[in-house]
Amino acid sequence: MSKKVVIIGAGLGGLECGYILAKNGYDITVLEHDKIVGGCLQSFRRGKALFDTGFHYVGGLREGESLHGLFRYFDLLSLPWQQLDEDCFDEVVIGNKSYPFANGHQRFVERLVEYFPHEKEGLKRFVKQLKEVGEHLPDSFLPRQTEEFYANSLFARSAYNWLNDTIHDPTLRKILSGTSLKMELNAERLPLYVFAQINNSFIQSAWRIKGGGGQIAEHLAESIRQMGGTIRVNATVTSIVERGGKAIGVRINREEFMPADYIIAAQHPQALMSLLADSQVIRNIYRRRISNLKNSFGMFTANIRLKPDCIKYENKNIFVHTPDADLWNVNSEKAKSVMVSYYAPSTENSADFSPAIDLLTPLRWYQVAQWAAEPQGRRGESYVNFKNKKTEECLNLVEKRIPELRGSIDAIFTSTPLSYHHYTLTQNGSAYGIQKDWQSPITTVLSPRTPIPNLLLTGQNLNLHGVLGTSMTSVFTCAEILGMDNLSEQLDVKHWK
Ligand SMILES: Cc1cc2nc3c(=O)[nH]c(=O)nc-3n(C[C@H](O)[C@H](O)[C@H](O)COP(=O)(O)OP(=O)(O)OC[C@H]3O[C@@H](n4cnc5c(N)ncnc54)[C@H](O)[C@@H]3O)c2cc1C
Repeated sequence: MSKKVVIIGAGLGGLECGYILAKNGYDITVLEHDKIVGGCLQSFRRGKALFDTGFHYVGGLREGESLHGLFRYFDLLSLPWQQLDEDCFDEVVIGNKSYPFANGHQRFVERLVEYFPHEKEGLKRFVKQLKEVGEHLPDSFLPRQTEEFYANSLFARSAYNWLNDTIHDPTLRKILSGTSLKMELNAERLPLYVFAQINNSFIQSAWRIKGGGGQIAEHLAESIRQMGGTIRVNATVTSIVERGGKAIGVRINREEFMPADYIIAAQHPQALMSLLADSQVIRNIYRRRISNLKNSFGMFTANIRLKPDCIKYENKNIFVHTPDADLWNVNSEKAKSVMVSYYAPSTENSADFSPAIDLLTPLRWYQVAQWAAEPQGRRGESYVNFKNKKTEECLNLVEKRIPELRGSIDAIFTSTPLSYHHYTLTQNGSAYGIQKDWQSPITTVLSPRTPIPNLLLTGQNLNLHGVLGTSMTSVFTCAEILGMDNLSEQLDVKHWK
């Protein structure tokens, strides 16, 4: 009889682990607290407009690039990916000046050298380092390399110090940091590995998905079902049951017991600790270590449904910053950086116009904590006023670049870290989970192993966040059961470069 694996959470990490293990003959059940699968990959409709909750774009989908081998394995390459403008997939706006990020390492340098000819050598050094990190990515999946990957020296180097040493012009440094709402740039903590691996994949090539990121989750869930696995929604794991030093199953919605040979926890590790309140194996030192870890900022999102045929679709993202925005220490009360993400034209719109647009800006938990005890959807007028104020701050910043935006708005739907906390149970509504710290990589880069031998961790909190990081982590987690030799052969890693 095949071994039973229960996976807690049907976000990307949980579903990918389910996919790998179902493909290898395990009996899989994925349990999801929410009413639909996807976690940060969920899409939702408001009238005719479709919005994404978290995920907006990925990098490195072409053959030989960072995400290609993983997405080929997960059968996700056939989804309706749309490549962003190769000559400017991201535009960084500071004050009234705009700068392009182009695909391809050489072209990336050439485009920015047009604005910073005196930094040609610095830019070459910048992309050389990024490219090297990307080229070593497949090595993390080679047998017996995983330990070295965790101890990789770039996890122990400061991204901020490296950027300062590599690029002398402070404006260029700001621009090179300017697309980085996809991670928390923290001058004291961010490891060079995180900065380089994520940025490199987008410089290779950048893609959004037509019809919403939810398709990634639905496709994985359907594949798991076809391989005989089960996905259950509205199924919150409320405790992990332990006997004789091992986990023997989970309790669902405080009632039903589901036995398991292995349990994979794909939710936030700090939230996992409360499911292990009665554990005899988990010691206080492990609990303290996990609960002391710091989380990244959360996100305020304004999902804007546009009036038909008003805003021209731009096949790129735009990152708008005030000249005084401190990108490596995001602590301001007021929004100083906003990411603008367009939705591709739908059949209801004419081909040139965008049906909807998202504005995202970092928001910390303490800024919304006063409403945390109130029920979702009934947080009162003061919360609504707060969200309206944030929306205004974002619009004020963005209308300098898109003056027609205000007049084109049909409806606005907003979310804050409280929404992420409510829907995905993520700690403090953090967007990218546990912050890695180059000064203590051993404590902040988590292994899939826990003190309970058959309880494993996965998801964005372990070593790298985002779709790329979470996908890599799923492989590391399943390698604990299947062996990395076996998995790297299945992934055909030797032929990735
Ligand atoms: C605003 C935002 C924008 C982003 N943009 C991008 C982007 O453009 N590109 C990119 O690559 N990445 C992006 N990311 C990051 C990316 O979406 C995440 O790294 C990734 O989706 C995380 O997947 P996960 O499975 O680790 O976690 P999650 O998606 O949080 O999944 C965890 C799941 O576990 C469930 N769960 C928790 N506790 C329990 C329980 N007790 N019982 C049952 N189920 C439980 C939750 O409901 C959730 O579905 C973004 C994230 C955010 C928040």
